[in-house]
Amino acid sequence: MRIPTSTEELRGGEVERYRKDLLRRGAAFAERLSELLAGQDATLADLPLVGQSGETPEDRLRRLLALVDEALHRIALQTYGRCTNCNRPLPRAALDLAPWTERCAECDHPLQHGSPPEETAGVERWQ
Ligand SMILES: [Zn+2]
Repeated sequence: MRIPTSTEELRGGEVERYRKDLLRRGAAFAERLSELLAGQDATLADLPLVGQSGETPEDRLRRLLALVDEALHRIALQTYGRCTNCNRPLPRAALDLAPWTERCAECDHPLQHGSPPEETAGVERWQ
């Protein structure tokens, strides 16, 4: 079976797969947040970092939930899978890693535009 390249449009089945992933991960974030708010010691070491440092675990969970909500909204509007800034298709690798991704690497890191791509460039580690 031919594997689609990253620049092709997402097909309906793929969008559905990302939608389920978003719902599943959104539910997990919501659960972690309610545990945190209930005073439980929530371990946040395994939460994805999405570009901001210095925020509290609660801030991060709320931001992730907002990102999941926005991504689901884009699915409803049928704009999911495209950069919200330049409208180019997002790489599947980025969506697989973080299905709430809203912007392509160039728009997310404009200062790095033109520099050679590096696997870890602009990505914080979360282990
Ligand atoms: Zn873009």
